[in-house]
Amino acid sequence: MTAPLIDPYARTIDYLRVSVTDRCDFRCTYCMAEHMTFLPKRDLLTLEELDRMCSAFVRMGVRKLRITGGEPLVRKGIMTFFEGMSRHLGNGLDELTLTTNGSQLERFAEPLWNAGVRRVNVSLDTLDATKFKEITRWGSLDKVLRGIAAAKSVGMRVKINAVALKNFNDVELFDLLDWAAREDLDLTFIEVMPMGDMGDVHRLDQYWPLKDLRATLAERFTLSELSYRTGGPARYFEVGETGQRLGFITPLTHNFCESCNRVRVTCTGELYMCLGQEDRADLRAPLRASEADAGLEAAIREAISRKPKGHDFDYSRQEIAGQVSRHMSHTGG
Ligand code: SAM
Repeated sequence: MTAPLIDPYARTIDYLRVSVTDRCDFRCTYCMAEHMTFLPKRDLLTLEELDRMCSAFVRMGVRKLRITGGEPLVRKGIMTFFEGMSRHLGNGLDELTLTTNGSQLERFAEPLWNAGVRRVNVSLDTLDATKFKEITRWGSLDKVLRGIAAAKSVGMRVKINAVALKNFNDVELFDLLDWAAREDLDLTFIEVMPMGDMGDVHRLDQYWPLKDLRATLAERFTLSELSYRTGGPARYFEVGETGQRLGFITPLTHNFCESCNRVRVTCTGELYMCLGQEDRADLRAPLRASEADAGLEAAIREAISRKPKGHDFDYSRQEIAGQVSRHMSHTGG
């Protein structure tokens, strides 16, 4: 182990999110334009480079590693990477996990479990098959539900992440809650963030602030805040009447930048110190410049010394402020 990563605001960085591909088998309307141009393969970190980079972060104190994308399970050979990373579990790393759209989970649940993955986040915004097709453009609800069932059956804890979308899943709020309770799934709602150009889709038309969502919930249920944390940005509440735990990720109505403990690396090895800022550091060059990791570690430390205080996303003046140009699939949500 080397010295831990501590940023200028005395925050310890112990959570790394790594996007392993920019490709996805869905085209969610709030995430990607339908016709995206993807990166050439040579620009992507190889599986070996991903391993070296993540291992360096673990040596520098990262305790939680979340693999994301694009869709991480469409990256060819990705199980080799998960299997490799499992050697760090209990040796610095506390948790190896992923965020997925669930489309490939039926096939991968068991090997993921064998590699030490115990929790998985599955993104799912609606339980209506027609609306599911509409929002994902290319996805099949049935396949995702089979993926969730497979993850549960191998013993994984599944958390559903739903983006709160006005005029879309607002009408399904109580159905989603009931379903999650019945299926024993954790459920977290996320505010839609201004990332990437969406063509004809307008952010403010989609934005359903979670304070409004909570007000709707309060018409039927009593919510009380919990101290439970999973090392991420979600804040959790208990639904008094059902005992259910509900998460809220509210980058717009209430950010939690002061306790930010994470950084993100894209599939090309760009280290973003904040999801909502453009500053970044190139880790691919030091990875490719030398087989030793000294240059890589120095580049990581230098970048952490520039981690900003927080993002500037803001819709409060009925206009979009703080937008970043890259899509969520680029940085890895
Ligand atoms: N393909 C995987 C998945 O579907 O979970 C991982 C990558 S996806 C970019 C990660 C998460 O980001 C998903 O839950 C998705 O709904 C969310 N997301 C994408 N664009 C977003 C945006 N503009 N605002 C908020 N969440 C967004």
